[in-house]
Amino acid sequence: MTNLFDLTGRVAVVTGANTGIGQGIAAALAGAGASIVAVGRSSMEQTGALVRDAGAAFHAISADLSSTAPVAGIVDEAIRTFGAIDILVNNAGIVRRADSVDFTEEDWDAVIDVNLKTLFFLTQAAGRHMLARGRGKVVNIASMLSFQGGIRIPAYTASKSGVAGLTRLLACEWAAGNVNVNAIAPGYFATNNTAALRDDADRSKAILERIPAGRWGQPTDIGGAAVFLSSAASDYVHGTILPVDGGWLAR
Ligand code: NAP
Repeated sequence: MTNLFDLTGRVAVVTGANTGIGQGIAAALAGAGASIVAVGRSSMEQTGALVRDAGAAFHAISADLSSTAPVAGIVDEAIRTFGAIDILVNNAGIVRRADSVDFTEEDWDAVIDVNLKTLFFLTQAAGRHMLARGRGKVVNIASMLSFQGGIRIPAYTASKSGVAGLTRLLACEWAAGNVNVNAIAPGYFATNNTAALRDDADRSKAILERIPAGRWGQPTDIGGAAVFLSSAASDYVHGTILPVDGGWLAR
């Protein structure tokens, strides 16, 4: 029987793959057989070891995604290295926390540039290649803040709500070209992104009490959804935002 989730021979570009959710996704895609191109500004040594341990090929590209400058080079290097890009996982993202009355323009621009602007233009560059080949999978990393307001993170909520909107728009434009654009909306995961929340005893307790699964997500919890949205199993799935949230949104 054909394994609908098999990624053997596929090439996945994963941004922000050095740690947290991105690393969990890179390891899971590698476990399903994909070659991994890890893109980011920090050492990819640990991720490289995880990917190679899974028996998959690995290539790291050093890039600061706070501007669109590296976008064309990333796509060129990935194609030069492994011959094609089958899967793009837009995972790199930042959060800046402050009350909205105090939130600075600098923080606003920093968050929107990484989470939304570079995400769009990297997807555009990879998408041109995918559409020309007649197939591809884009997986954006959205958030609970693609559905909810949150507090003290105005730029983050705007960016992740924007990611949800772009996911739908690109799905509408590219589905007929056999390129799937979907998103995963992680709930509350124990990564650098949420360190400030977990360090705040009151916020940490309130969040944990609201998660039906009774625990924070771990990077290993996200891989199954990423493999699904990157594989033939999701060929007729377009423009969806898949929560992986321990039941948070069901509450
Ligand atoms: P994280 O550990 O902070 O990971 C963020 C990743 O993005 C890191 O690899 C980081 O690289 C990279 N990155 C940030 N700015 C970059 C830049 N200018 N250039 C290149 N890479 C950059 O937190 P995470 O939770 O795994 O976050 C991954 C994604 O999941 C983000 O989009 C985040 O918004 C989203 N998310 C997280 C949660 C959660 O609860 N943790 C929930 C919903 C959505 P460095 O390590 O070098 O900074």
